[in-house]
Amino acid sequence: MSLRELDHNRSIGLQLCALLERGRLVHAFMFAGSGAEMRRELGLAFAKAVLCPEGAGDACGKCLSCRKFEDGNHEDLIVVSKPKDRASITVGQVEELQERLRFAPYGRNYAVIIEDSQLMNPQAQNKLLKLLEEPPEGVVFILLAESTDAMLPTVVSRCSCYWLEEGEKKASDDIVRMARDLARMIFEGAPFYKKRDALKDILDARDDGRLMALELIDVLEEVLLREAVRLSASKGPDMARIAAAEQACSEARRCLRQNHNTGYTLKQLCLRI
Ligand SMILES: [Zn+2]
Repeated sequence: MSLRELDHNRSIGLQLCALLERGRLVHAFMFAGSGAEMRRELGLAFAKAVLCPEGAGDACGKCLSCRKFEDGNHEDLIVVSKPKDRASITVGQVEELQERLRFAPYGRNYAVIIEDSQLMNPQAQNKLLKLLEEPPEGVVFILLAESTDAMLPTVVSRCSCYWLEEGEKKASDDIVRMARDLARMIFEGAPFYKKRDALKDILDARDDGRLMALELIDVLEEVLLREAVRLSASKGPDMARIAAAEQACSEARRCLRQNHNTGYTLKQLCLRI
């Protein structure tokens, strides 16, 4: 499974691809949300991409690193999980990890996945905190957690956090079509009124215009991210346009979540993209 093939949390997968592609990797990530399988799927896909020396923003699936990963014998993948006979991940396990990280990785990086990191006891978390504060070179920590409630805020704040959504539903065909039209218009530099007209169905909607608008923004961001990954080598005007549009999408989402008027928010979005 690669980041671009995820069944769930596709937009998070694409955001991570964009980070890898742009070389903007931080050393610690937190993927939090219910659904252990889903967390694991994302954690593994990300680790595979981090370790692959060939892929552009994602695991290539073909190189030696990817093949070892798939066979379950990659030397640089370290998975820490709660022992079956214990209630928590112990400080001893984190010390073991620390010991192992003293040695250089076999390839270019270590990917360390900590499963159910909410089950680390406080001593273990404190020990991990030391590692996160002074991370060894070339290590990417991937913390998976059901929720961050039981975690030390100091640990959480050291991570770039992503909140996963369970059972992410597929957007309707109409929304996908609208988002694609809008993305095309962004690239063509179409005038405001054309973009606004493309969103007519949502602007005319009576009740659930807000939900449709939120869905549209999710899909639009996904289309833009895909395009950004494709273009990331270039620094042309298209990249600047994508960056501005991504920012406008975040702003519009924030407004919609704060119950600002849907029509007004979408028109503002069209003006800015
Ligand atoms: Zn590869």
